[in-house]
Amino acid sequence: MNQSNLQFKITPHLEKLAKKSEAIRKQFYPSRKEKQGKKKNLDPLAEEKNSPVKGLIYRYSDRALVLLTLNCAAYCRFCFRRRAVSDIRKGLLSRTDLEAIVDFIKKHKKIREVIISGGDPLTQPEILRNFLKKIVCLKQIKIIRIGTRLAVSDPKRINQEILEILKLVKKQPLYLLLHFEHPDELTLETKKAIKKLHSLENTILLSQTVFLKGINDKKEILKELFEGLTALGVKPYYIFHNDAPSGTEHFTVGFKKEIKIMTQLRKELSGLAYPIYALDKKGFPCKIPLPLDFDFSFLRQSETKRQSA
Ligand code: SF4
Repeated sequence: MNQSNLQFKITPHLEKLAKKSEAIRKQFYPSRKEKQGKKKNLDPLAEEKNSPVKGLIYRYSDRALVLLTLNCAAYCRFCFRRRAVSDIRKGLLSRTDLEAIVDFIKKHKKIREVIISGGDPLTQPEILRNFLKKIVCLKQIKIIRIGTRLAVSDPKRINQEILEILKLVKKQPLYLLLHFEHPDELTLETKKAIKKLHSLENTILLSQTVFLKGINDKKEILKELFEGLTALGVKPYYIFHNDAPSGTEHFTVGFKKEIKIMTQLRKELSGLAYPIYALDKKGFPCKIPLPLDFDFSFLRQSETKRQSA
């Protein structure tokens, strides 16, 4: 079978939203198209090959990515890690696993940033607390980043307990990377959750998005989303081309259309509201920024002039 077995899971909050928003419905309710993927391409970034210790992915020398859990409040059908996400049994990290991760980080002194992802790390407060306690005191760690979708999928769970856990990060700046796909996700409850996260000192809120066919592949939709996030104090950070692991191909928009949208958005949005449009590709040392459709002939002309001067 080419597809992973990403389970179906949705929260009452999203269920209610899905009744009036097709964009929400398409993100969380399974479709038959998930079974039509042709290529066996479950792990396009070869994360599993780059996992020296259970729960840790090491692709860039100065950063360690920790998949703290494979659980989420709701499962997005386009999930990039759908090969493993929702397999709770496989994703459960024991204290021994956490210690092995910390040991690996300590042995690799170049690591200065820990990115905590999953799954959704905020859905496992106990594990997150234990792990943060272990890494905040490592002198080599200068930055902590946490990726989460909880403010969208179950905003009420951004509660006092979560805030207290996040407050453990005091010595380093905490970058919270919130995942948003569509302006329909900016509900009153989500805005309240964002406000609570803003009450944390030392914390910077960023967003990331994936281009999704039939969901956000229109300039007006993304403009509303990025302007809305910026007005809430969340800086749009990345928008990615869909890496299309098997079972998510039907969400891929295509570069031509994406470039057209992003070029137009670049003309209409302030730099603050405009995210980096990028592709994550196996074998590259970084996320690859994708080009926009501007006429750059002036660069050649100015270089020719400079050389002949
Ligand atoms: S919240 Fe993130 S990890 Fe969880 S299913 Fe959605 S995209 Fe995947």
